Amino acid sequence: MRLVATLVGPAAGSLVDHSLIQSLSRCLMTHGAVLEAEDWLSEGEACDIFFNAQEIQTTKELLSTELLGTGIDFALQPPAGRRKNLLVADMESTIIPQEMIDELALRQGIGEEIAVITHKSMRGELNFEDSLRQRVALLKGVDETELAKLSGLMTLNPGADILVRTMKKHGAYTALVSGGFTYFTSQIRELCLFDEDRANTLLIEEGRLSGLVSEPILGREAKLEATLDLTQKLKIDLSNVCAIGDGANDLAMLSAVGMGIGYHGKPIVQETAAFLINHTDHQAALFYQGYRRDEFC
Ligand SMILES: [Mg+2]
Repeated sequence: MRLVATLVGPAAGSLVDHSLIQSLSRCLMTHGAVLEAEDWLSEGEACDIFFNAQEIQTTKELLSTELLGTGIDFALQPPAGRRKNLLVADMESTIIPQEMIDELALRQGIGEEIAVITHKSMRGELNFEDSLRQRVALLKGVDETELAKLSGLMTLNPGADILVRTMKKHGAYTALVSGGFTYFTSQIRELCLFDEDRANTLLIEEGRLSGLVSEPILGREAKLEATLDLTQKLKIDLSNVCAIGDGANDLAMLSAVGMGIGYHGKPIVQETAAFLINHTDHQAALFYQGYRRDEFC
């Protein structure tokens, strides 16, 4: 079958150089692959190697072994159809580095109590919906103005805005789908220019958090449902979707789409996602789709 391996290193590091591509090409040939061509998407940063191989999984294992410890990310896929028309992104620890409910809890002096529940959930040890109910209940009585103060803390992970802008410019629809709160996702949607955001709503009574979140909770299955809903609206196939996330509640969505990327993911995501970004940033998701750096915007 015809495959393309995309190697991506940090922009400044020049880890992806001609000698690396040569040595990987030799390794692929030694294992029976028939090489076609190499194509530099960004000199010294990202390169495609096109080849024919018997099987994708053993080739992927081979590349994983060869690249272990190098600080280089890679993707392996058939070249046809790798540019996607829908981006669905998780927000917390994916588009932004923060976990907003943890930040809120820290300020209320209940950080540890809440972080224990968050981490259990992200590792897949506790159902996401129940963990969110438990955490929000602990925040009962917090003044609404605390949310506004926290908004200023939010920052974008490197390349997040470039990923959204570039895919949009090339005709894709972009959605932020989060198990967090609409109060924060709406701001990141505006900052990053996502077409829409879907998340959970914190219920507020007389200016204070009621300790309740609106039901049904947007969790693992709801992220997949949101993705399915978007594909139906856009009349596109799931194979035409790039989804990106870091936690257990992203797994159903990541597994269902054509390009499900684990972004600096929790161990359960590292084990399961077909595509990974572990060393570089969101721009790797563009290289994986075959975009050249001069097409980024
Ligand atoms: Mg997340």
